Amino acid sequence: MPIYEYACPACGHRFEKIQRQRSAEQPCPKCGAAGQPAVSRPAATSANCGSGGFT
Ligand SMILES: [Zn+2]
Repeated sequence: MPIYEYACPACGHRFEKIQRQRSAEQPCPKCGAAGQPAVSRPAATSANCGSGGFT
């Protein structure tokens, strides 16, 4: 199943959910606010998979 990314507008936390389909919103695991779907990170940003950071 694909992984969808969500971003919480309340606390800024980003989290991922494995779902069959993207939901309109998912509760933030940190604060419980309704997280909104976020655009997935591009997979081809860098071919270097060793020292990658979370920007
Ligand atoms: Zn939150």
